[in-house]
Amino acid sequence: MIESLVAVLVILYLVELCFALPPHAIVFSRPGWGRFSVATAAERGLEIRGRTRLVLAPPLPLGCILVTEVPPLHAAPDGLVPSAAFAWLPLPPPATAAAVPYSQVSLRRVGTTLLLAGGTRTRWASEPAATLAADAPNAVAGGTERAWQRWLQENVARSDEGAIRTRVGDFRRATLPLRVLCTLLFAFLFGVIPVTALLHLPWSAWHLVAYVALLGGIQVFAWRVGSRFYPADRAKRWTRVFTMLVSPAELMCVPHALSRDLLAGHDPLAVAGVLLDGPRFADAAARALRGAHFGTRLPVADRERLEGIVRRHGLAAAELVAAPTQEAGSRVYCPRCHEQLTLVTAECRNCAGVPMVEFRA
Ligand SMILES: [Zn+2]
Repeated sequence: MIESLVAVLVILYLVELCFALPPHAIVFSRPGWGRFSVATAAERGLEIRGRTRLVLAPPLPLGCILVTEVPPLHAAPDGLVPSAAFAWLPLPPPATAAAVPYSQVSLRRVGTTLLLAGGTRTRWASEPAATLAADAPNAVAGGTERAWQRWLQENVARSDEGAIRTRVGDFRRATLPLRVLCTLLFAFLFGVIPVTALLHLPWSAWHLVAYVALLGGIQVFAWRVGSRFYPADRAKRWTRVFTMLVSPAELMCVPHALSRDLLAGHDPLAVAGVLLDGPRFADAAARALRGAHFGTRLPVADRERLEGIVRRHGLAAAELVAAPTQEAGSRVYCPRCHEQLTLVTAECRNCAGVPMVEFRA
């Protein structure tokens, strides 16, 4: 009896660790003990229904977990518009990128869903994330460099690393009691309960008292964290209260759920500057800049903005976009993804529309 309950709980728990995300969402995650890593949902996730990926969060509610989904600053749904996000992560760019100019993109947001000419394009985790994903392409819907520059100026806070650092620090501090309680609950449900059952120890009222106390504590702290960091999401908080009442697995994973929209309003590269260590940031920055220079038709203002972030970290933009070291036998390389080939081809097979460059002898 207890064995099958624990088995059901394990399955529920694993399900709770899966997030459904749009493929181009950028996910920063960190297990309790390790460093942050970054990937897109398309890279790390399991494809479901074409437009969504299931991404697995770190599996234990220990320590300082943060799984946060950051919409690419001006990624359009399904990559109809060239985007910095496509540029700085190793994703094949959308084949249609070159064909659809900014001026033809206009998105409508309904709740968390973005609509393009009546067709659903992507569904985001939260309204702030969806708003951001719609805002940027719409800001340049006129197709002008000036429109984009104005949008960037109005949204300069999105690249503010100080603000990102403060928000992450505040969140980590605010969720400390919650994470401790979740870890205790994990130990209780996957340790105390099975051991009691397997060793045929007596059940006491204290088992129930302990569970109710943990449930109450987690509910209170989850509500407090939710109302502090997402004051507008009142309906979502109530939904969470009810699902946590019936699902212990949801209770244990609530820090993941709360961290998901934490940095939704910020630029992915600025977030990378705060969360990633030196080499990982340099890698992300190189991808971003190479994409901005060679891969996509980013507005100049946006390229300068990316270079500004890179410079603040003491990296030289020119070095990051330099040609790769030539491998033995290779004759051409792609300036965007740095793939090298021994055969001379006109276009990169990974990056639609990017011409290959010959190594100088
Ligand atoms: Zn390429």
